[in-house]
Formats: sequence, C-alpha cells, structure tokens
Amino acid sequence: MENAFYDFIIIGAGPAGLSAAQYAARSNLSVLVIENGTTGGQALNINKLENYPGVYPAVDGAAFVESMREQAQEFGASILRSTVTSIDKIGQKFVLETESGRLSSWALLIATGAEHSRLGVPGEDKFAGRGVSWCATCDGPFFKNKRILVVGGGDSACDEATYLSTLSPYVTLVHRRGSLRAQKAVAERVLSNKNITVQFFTQVKEIKGVSKVDSVVLADTRTGETREMQMDGIFEFVGMKPRTELVEMLRKDDKGYIITNYNMETSIKGMFCAGDIRAKPFRQIVTATADGATAAYSAGQYIRTIKNEAYV
Ligand code: NAP
Repeated sequence: MENAFYDFIIIGAGPAGLSAAQYAARSNLSVLVIENGTTGGQALNINKLENYPGVYPAVDGAAFVESMREQAQEFGASILRSTVTSIDKIGQKFVLETESGRLSSWALLIATGAEHSRLGVPGEDKFAGRGVSWCATCDGPFFKNKRILVVGGGDSACDEATYLSTLSPYVTLVHRRGSLRAQKAVAERVLSNKNITVQFFTQVKEIKGVSKVDSVVLADTRTGETREMQMDGIFEFVGMKPRTELVEMLRKDDKGYIITNYNMETSIKGMFCAGDIRAKPFRQIVTATADGATAAYSAGQYIRTIKNEAYV
C-alpha cells in the first residue's frame, strides 16, 4: 500500500462509493476506496440496467460499475481490496484497522450498502448454493428450462423473475400479499409475461431435497393451507438489510438504516454515509450516485476546514 494516511477514505465500492471517489479525487483530495468483495456492490447482479439516465441502450451492471471504477481511478482514487475490522476517531483523525494494516484519514464515507434478507425457513441454509440463490444473474444459467421459484413482490423479485423467464418458461413468482410492491412498469412486465405464473397470498414454509432442492412447501397466507410443489431453483428477493456492522454507534431509523442529513453527514463529525445503507425513501443506482457526489462535496468542505485548523 502506498500511503497510510488519506484525506478521504471510502468503505464500499458500489455506485455510491465509486461516485464519491471520483468526485473527491477530481477535487484534488487524496482518496482511498476499501472494498472487501468485488468492486461494484449489488449493481454487479443487474442483468440489464435500463433506468440510469443517459445510459442508453441498457448495459449490464458489471460493465457499468467497471467504467465507474476506471473513471474514479483515472481521476486519482486508489482502490484497496481488504476488510476493515474497526473504526475509531482519535482527535480529528479516523483510524481504521484493516487486514492490510492501519489506515487513517480526515474524513470517512460509509458506503457499505445493504444485503439480501433471508426467509429463515427450514432447508434454506442447507440448500444455499444447491438450489437456493439470491442472485439470478449469477445462478440463473444453472436452471435453464427448469422449474424456478422467485419469492417476493418488490422491484428485485420482479426484475429478476423477468430475467429468469428468458432462461426458462417455468418461472413461478410467489408473493405473500395480493398485489405487487414493485414499480408499476416493472410489475406489469411480470404480470403479462407468459413464462411467469404469479401466485399471490403465498408464502414459503419449507425447502426440501436430498443433495439439492427438490421441492418447496407453500402456504396460503389467508387460510394457512399448505401444498408441496416440485422445484429446482429458488431465488429469494424479500428485501434488503443495511450493512452496518462497522458503524453500530451511528443513529439509525427503525429499520436499521443510518440517518444522515441532506449533506450525507452522520451523527459523528467527519463521518458520512451514502447509498443503500442510508435511511431514504428511494433506493436506486441513480440515488446512490447522487448520495456519493453529495458526500464527496460535503467531505471536501469539512476536510478543507480541518486542514486550516489542525496540525498534520
Ligand atoms: P423491497 O422493495 O423491500 O421488497 C421486498 C419484497 O419482499 C416485498 O414485496 C415484501 O412483501 C417481500 N417480503 C419481505 N419479507 C418477506 C418474507 N419474510 N416473506 C415473504 N415475502 C417477504 O426489496 P427489493 O425488491 O429488494 O428492493 C430494494 C430496493 O431496491 C427498493 O427500494 C427498490 O425500489 C430498489 N430496486 C429498484 C430496482 C429498479 O429500479 N429496477 C430494482 C431492484 C431494486 P410486502 O410487499 O408484503 O412487504
């Protein structure tokens, strides 16, 4: 690693973190992005990104974030693959312990995003990776022309069911209520798709199999009546939960998302939050990139004030 001290350290290299990196580096701050997985976050799982303004025709999510990474690095941001194990604030500096050693900065951006929630039903853990999946783009091709169950009624479930319907005509989407939560256009695409059967008022009770998924036990949420359905692949899209393990000390909303003001400032001075981890009404790539740009602007103002005041 070249440096141990940066103006601005960003944890998370999804659209929020990479946008912040690009804006901050372009404004002449020294910037390090730390990512413990593959650069790109959840955007990597998008088969067809069709609603990012100006990106037309649609591109796949991996290509989109790859060009964001190149752009951030072109402006001078560094990217480190490592895991942050703790965050401390000593005086005006943030001190991070990572698997690659100690790093510090004037300002810190938490852009660690959110991860898929799980159903928590019997068989789910046992068959994870053996028929149960949370990523259609990654695992869908294993289920070509097979029976596929999609669970959930939001944008993710509907988008992913639409993608899976290009791989198999035997897609069933089950949702616990009587109407889809997804945006109208996204929901209508599912409801009119001849390869997708939608079963409302239906909940998964158990996933069964021997060495891989063979069937699923479904229950009618109105009557409690259960039935078993032969199944090969189960894709769960039942919401997200924020990745806040590193910042449990910050103020959160009732769902566990980090509360910021409109400058992306958290309850700790110099610590900012952006993207899906943040409490906000609408989680999209376009809102994540906007958060990232705003956080970089706010952090830049904060850092310049600190630099004028503090001894380095
Ligand atoms: P979401 O909007 O929170 O939807 C989760 C769905 O799972 C809901 O339909 C919910 O049912 C259902 N659910 C939750 N817990 C369940 C359980 N235990 N059993 C069965 N069903 C359960 O989550 P998401 O679809 O992952 O989307 C997350 C965010 O990303 C949203 O803000 C979304 O707009 C955004 N997103 C946007 C796009 C796009 O613009 N194309 C694509 C993907 C995601 P209820 O409806 O009954 O609550």
